[in-house]
Amino acid sequence: MEWDFGKTTRKCAGCSNNLPEEEFFYSTLFVNPDVKAKGDNFLRRDYCNPCWEKKPEGVFSFWKAKLTKKQAPKTPREVLVEFFDNLVNPVPDAQSEIAVEARPKIMYLFGLILLRRRIVKIKENILKDNQSYIVFERIPDGKIYEVPEMALSDAELISLKDQFAKIFEFEV
Ligand SMILES: [Zn+2]
Repeated sequence: MEWDFGKTTRKCAGCSNNLPEEEFFYSTLFVNPDVKAKGDNFLRRDYCNPCWEKKPEGVFSFWKAKLTKKQAPKTPREVLVEFFDNLVNPVPDAQSEIAVEARPKIMYLFGLILLRRRIVKIKENILKDNQSYIVFERIPDGKIYEVPEMALSDAELISLKDQFAKIFEFEV
């Protein structure tokens, strides 16, 4: 599959208001419901707190974000951990074809990213139903993530990392 992601906006996708500075809002990776017409598989959509409470549909994964005057956002570690947590435990109503197909590869990619950053370590490899899984253990609290091992080409890895760097606005 090809990986396409939309760009960041500074507005709430629900009410169209500018996102407030210095307050948490929710950033989501959103499955594009109109993918055939528009091309991007995933869009980033940001929601202010009241709009997030209304539980928008189609959220693939999410993390909390903040716009600050000082340009000092949450640390990448927190964002990565939160994104990974929500990826491994998906939001129930994001079960489109794209989401189902993309999730294992994105989980695997983020497992590797967290491993490289020493946010997780590999506990063991296991086999379940002829699929091998890497069991990652979070440092320091030992939280376990079972992630299916995927075949990802170098080109695919680099392309995915670039796309996520744009979404998160820092290098992954
Ligand atoms: Zn809103």
